[in-house]
Amino acid sequence: MSNGKSATDELQQHLQQLSNAFAVRLQVELPALAQNAERLLHAADPQEQLQHLHSLRDQLHKLAGAAGTFGFSSLGQRARELEQEADQWLETLQKEQQSLQDFSRSLQQLARQQFHAERNQEPATRAVKPPRPNSSARRIYILEDQLSIGENMRLTLNNFGYHAEHFSRISELDAALQQQLPDALIVDVNLPDESLTGLEYAASLQQRLDEPLPLLVITTQDDFATYLEAVRVGAMGFFTKPVDIPQLENRLERCFAQQQGEPYRVLIIDDDRELASRFSLILRGANMLVEMLHEPAEIFARMRGFNPEVVLLDVSMPNCTGPELAQIIRMNDDWLRVPIVYLSAETDINRQMNALIKAGDDFVTKPISDNALVAAVFSRAQRARLLSNALSRDSLTGLLKHADIKEQAAVELERAQRSGKPASVAMLDIDFFKKVNDSYGHAAGDNVIRALANLLRQRLRRIDSLGRYGGEEFLVVLPDCPSDQALRILDEIRQRFAELHFIAGGQQFSVTLSAGIASTEDTPASADDLLDKADRALYAAKHNGRNQVR
Ligand code: GH3
Ligand code: MG
Ligand code: MG
Repeated sequence: MSNGKSATDELQQHLQQLSNAFAVRLQVELPALAQNAERLLHAADPQEQLQHLHSLRDQLHKLAGAAGTFGFSSLGQRARELEQEADQWLETLQKEQQSLQDFSRSLQQLARQQFHAERNQEPATRAVKPPRPNSSARRIYILEDQLSIGENMRLTLNNFGYHAEHFSRISELDAALQQQLPDALIVDVNLPDESLTGLEYAASLQQRLDEPLPLLVITTQDDFATYLEAVRVGAMGFFTKPVDIPQLENRLERCFAQQQGEPYRVLIIDDDRELASRFSLILRGANMLVEMLHEPAEIFARMRGFNPEVVLLDVSMPNCTGPELAQIIRMNDDWLRVPIVYLSAETDINRQMNALIKAGDDFVTKPISDNALVAAVFSRAQRARLLSNALSRDSLTGLLKHADIKEQAAVELERAQRSGKPASVAMLDIDFFKKVNDSYGHAAGDNVIRALANLLRQRLRRIDSLGRYGGEEFLVVLPDCPSDQALRILDEIRQRFAELHFIAGGQQFSVTLSAGIASTEDTPASADDLLDKADRALYAAKHNGRNQVR
């Protein structure tokens, strides 16, 4: 806790510094505004008046956007009003001397006034959890009063590589929670021997914790009221008995992936450096990686080098406008997945529309509160990443698609030849898979495929690559791994897969797999040759009776 607090203090300190810097900037910008106002009044002809009005309008526009963001909200508001007035002047071009004098006077008044930053009421940021080490198994607690169901779930999840523990009573679970918190909790709703339902217990537990636990609910009641209650206690999954455990495991993986994903990468493009710094601090405080770009011409290098997931783009910049830059970004298909959000002091809805029609996806209006900025960027980054993953990965399993895993095999073969460290590949194929589909339906077959994908993800190392090669065929690439070691690893996976219990239509069944291994030790001529050797070994395993690794 003390850590989080000091980080927040530090952020507050930085924000204060930026706010101070802006106050210093005002000491230059406000007199400049007054000077321009003076010039407007003494302009020799309508032509010159127009010119001064234009530059005043631009000055006010910038001021309106920045002031509010730095906490000078009344200055920001007044600047916005005067900007609109300037707009009207520009539009009508009916410059009655008297009212123009009033306008000039208002400007001079604004410039003379003393402004102070008004305190932001909302907390700037929340503390961010440190990422967990990749190596340790995830701890899962199961609260289930029926011993056989709970134990079966525990064993299956342990098969998948989790560290699962089962509790029949709330008091036992409570004792374990005192010792150590799990990474996720699974609760049964109906607990006839307890005074609380599983959901009531989960609700009180979530309230006690600093941060809610990922929660999955298992139940025999799948009515709307139970769903609603589950959602209200923060459940991320809802499963009716008999529980399809691979599906439940799949949901667990998704919870964890969301929880510990890499920080989102955000690129901010704004000619106002202080404003960009402020936005960047706020987003960094929310655990995002932020880079700033002040020079539009560097856009290509930065998009390639930083590979942002969201671009925040100022609308009005000198030399090159936001919509122009957005159009340049949109000319390259590599960046189609990156949302472009305009950060603009522009409240004129028609101008916003025009900018959007040219390119760009959304608008965020300056001034913006810190929390609103974080929420706006976070939601877009999250969606962009989900989409991007969906495009490059197989939708059923989340593994690499055929072409990508083949490419990976070629890369590792080359690396092995260079380093002299042997790499292995394994081709896996589910046995008699047609029968699974025929007996239990295609959806049950899909679950088996997903379960194998999850098992592979759990059992293999981070440096290994996993791909769905075909329907029920998988390709695994194991760098720095000789064939005897690969054989041991794959055989363990084969055994664990055979131990999984699947449930479909109230029936329980298990499935086996066969695998063939080839290694760079066999000096393959090419990547295709290496994969061919693995394929032949797989064929031999099938012919030799299946459920084995060759
Ligand atoms: P073997 O032990 O020789 O591998 O027998 P098999 O039945 O597994 O082999 P076969 O190649 O004849 O059949 C594979 C079946 O996998 C055929 C196809 O309908 C099914 N399949 C392929 N992709 C999917 C998928 O995404 N989902 C489901 N449910 N089935 C799939
Ligand atoms: Mg098969
Ligand atoms: Mg097959």
